[in-house]
Amino acid sequence: MSEGKPKIALYWCASCGGCEEAVVDLAEDLLKIAEKVDIVFWPVAIDAKKEDLEKLRDGEILVSFINGAIRLSEHEEMVKLLRRKSKLIVAYGSCSYMGGILSLANLYPREEILRYVAMEAPTVENPGETMFKEKTMINGVELELPRFLEKARPLDEIVEVDYYIPGCPPTPQVTLKAIETLLSGNLPPRGSVIGASDKSLCNECPLNSTKPEKLLVKKYKRLTHAEIDPEKCLLAQGIPCLGPVTRGGCNALCIKAGMPCTGCFGPLDGVVDYGGKAVSYLASILDVPPEKDAVLKALEGLPDPVGYLYKYSLAKSLLFRKRAER
Ligand code: SF4
Ligand code: SF4
Repeated sequence: MSEGKPKIALYWCASCGGCEEAVVDLAEDLLKIAEKVDIVFWPVAIDAKKEDLEKLRDGEILVSFINGAIRLSEHEEMVKLLRRKSKLIVAYGSCSYMGGILSLANLYPREEILRYVAMEAPTVENPGETMFKEKTMINGVELELPRFLEKARPLDEIVEVDYYIPGCPPTPQVTLKAIETLLSGNLPPRGSVIGASDKSLCNECPLNSTKPEKLLVKKYKRLTHAEIDPEKCLLAQGIPCLGPVTRGGCNALCIKAGMPCTGCFGPLDGVVDYGGKAVSYLASILDVPPEKDAVLKALEGLPDPVGYLYKYSLAKSLLFRKRAER
């Protein structure tokens, strides 16, 4: 550890590991970054323990990058510790930023999830119906597991977050740009999304020139049920591509691979509820008579609206919270 270099930390909470992979995907650039900073804590890659983190002075770490949603009591404890030890906290990736894919589990009560995993999942055999326990005695020693919380939450519901890096996972280019911004000392306003674009994905999409000025859709189609012209705007073909309401910066990777945008970079500035914005946009371009049957028919190709429109942001959904409160 060198005294002169800024210290950084990386930590994962409820995460698939993809955000950790994304850091490794920086390849040679990771070595260049490692020359400029001291990585003092990164459980996936270096052997630093919680006690090492506790020994640091408060604010001694310049920036901590935290990926994954908050789902366990251990996550809460660790991110509070990192907040205390860090000048800047960055929510890295969609799960940390908006709850991410795993916050779709918020559709189900905690007990139902635990029961399914312990007893009902197709790969489980549990004839004694043994349930998870937070505390277990083994040979006179009490072992304790972290508590599985009521729901998955984005990082900024637990600690103050200074910056957000979007993506599922963030691309190496976005990550690099964000790290360079943070190390430059020329910091954007607190609370900003960094490393990505401030325009919608359509602006950088190679199919944008084929998107009609007045876009109207008669029926949404499932990708698996449609014949797609790869040279034409997917939304103009009825595929519910979320590029118009999603922040750009990913270089349209999914579109280039023939897939519609599903919104992992989240909303543009000023939008609070991503799914709400998406549903409003898709409804506004629907060209059907305003009758229930006609509308339902047009939406048949969107069979799981919550899973599609809130794929990465259910934990931040105002609509869903309102419903849950009721
Ligand atoms: S943002 Fe995506 S890649 Fe990163 S941890 Fe969540 S699910 Fe995995
Ligand atoms: S709607 Fe989708 S396919 Fe069409 S221009 Fe926008 S991002 Fe590209």
